[in-house]
Amino acid sequence: WKGLRVTVAGLGVSGVSAARALAGLGAEVTVVDGGSGPALEARAADLAEAGVAVRLGDAQTLPEGTGLVVTSPGWKPQSPLFLAAAEAGVDVIGDVEVAWRLRGPGAAPWLAVTGTNGKTTTTQMLASILRAAGLRTAAVGNIGTPIVDVILEGDDAYDVLAVELSSYQLHWAPSLRTHSAAVLNLAPDHLDWHGSMEAYAADKGRIYEGNQVACVYNVDATDKPSTEDLVREADVEEGCRAIGFTLNTPAPSQLGVVEGILVDRAFVPDRQKQAQELAEVSDVSPPAPHNIANALAAAALARAFGVAPQAVRDGLRAFRPDAHRIEHVADVAGVAYVDDSKATNTHAAQASLAAYESIVWIAGGLAKGATFDELVAASAKRLRAAVLIGADRALIREALARHAPEVPVVDLDRTDTGAMAEAVRRAARLAAPGDTVLMAPACASMDMFTNYNKRGDAFAEAVRELGASA
Ligand code: ADP
Repeated sequence: WKGLRVTVAGLGVSGVSAARALAGLGAEVTVVDGGSGPALEARAADLAEAGVAVRLGDAQTLPEGTGLVVTSPGWKPQSPLFLAAAEAGVDVIGDVEVAWRLRGPGAAPWLAVTGTNGKTTTTQMLASILRAAGLRTAAVGNIGTPIVDVILEGDDAYDVLAVELSSYQLHWAPSLRTHSAAVLNLAPDHLDWHGSMEAYAADKGRIYEGNQVACVYNVDATDKPSTEDLVREADVEEGCRAIGFTLNTPAPSQLGVVEGILVDRAFVPDRQKQAQELAEVSDVSPPAPHNIANALAAAALARAFGVAPQAVRDGLRAFRPDAHRIEHVADVAGVAYVDDSKATNTHAAQASLAAYESIVWIAGGLAKGATFDELVAASAKRLRAAVLIGADRALIREALARHAPEVPVVDLDRTDTGAMAEAVRRAARLAAPGDTVLMAPACASMDMFTNYNKRGDAFAEAVRELGASA
């Protein structure tokens, strides 16, 4: 890295971490960002002290002499800066690739997780299981601490890493080779970034490339291409096994569920023999079907790493999901209020709508190129009413009109942050005792909020106000 001129795209969390790390290794780093203003300037001043140059207000031109570009997740592959890099014959890589290249020969192996939904949950479950096995580990990647920072702690700091990878990170991580990896599911998302479903699937499939021990796939998924197709297409190391997970009785080389018990028929001494019991369905929280699938995927990766059945059970029992993921906020007047702000696409929203019976659904936001017909058709009979907010709510309203014409719809013509409180009040009026008011927007939040956390907080706050006035 010494003397290499690196241009980092984007002054966000991962950009700042990559810039610092590379400057620390002797690279000449310039961060470019199209934005401006006091917040970015403050960050730039901080970085200047670490010897990093920052150029604000121009995200397009490639700085003179650039030898490598390091990108941030938000930047699309078609961004002018990357086109300029391609023209100049300069490689573009992401923070995960940087981390991968910084590992020493004795560094901890990676167990990696991707998928359209359930990545964070599964990665955290996996870390919990690995910890229960007495291993030194961290959940990293597309969660919390930037992965480069963790790698810089040194090769000896961890025994194994649980790594969440987004499709963006995979797109820009060409030389990544993991111990084992799982693709949880595959449904249309971020198509505006990737350009097409094929391109999105191909980026997800890269997680299997060069895998050494296990490629974990979802047996039950009906989407095409399936995660199993991606395993088949991947170039894996000789001896690497394809391991399926299913909510049904598993075949050999699969993990699955038998009479309420999570069982393993893949990592047992004699594969034709009896299944190894791992945990009970009730050890998984919440024990909703999609989350049992997450638990099975996490267990498969841990078992591929040699973790004992007992540790799988202990790790799952110790695990609690993060906020805004099907989080029960409160009961008011016999109605349950559930925050699934993290349901930022239709596939996630469909999973949470499937977990309840009589729902007043709060939805809407930025659609990111999605269509809502399948979601609405699959969930119509569970809907008592819908309250729509956000920029792309018309798309959901039209899908409701097509597939659930009898469901009453309140279309709030609002995209300000106060819209959530009004949505909750309107939903409360539409709900009857025993119903669930479920905020599972099926859309991104950025039209109204800084992120999904803020959207979830706004929902919870509105529910509290409702409780106080009830
Ligand atoms: P990610 O990190 O992939 O965004 P999370 O674990 O944060 O995934 O969960 C995001 C949302 O996706 C949850 O709020 C829930 O609605 C939904 N979800 C979680 N696991 C699954 C799954 N296996 N299949 C479908 N939807 C899921």
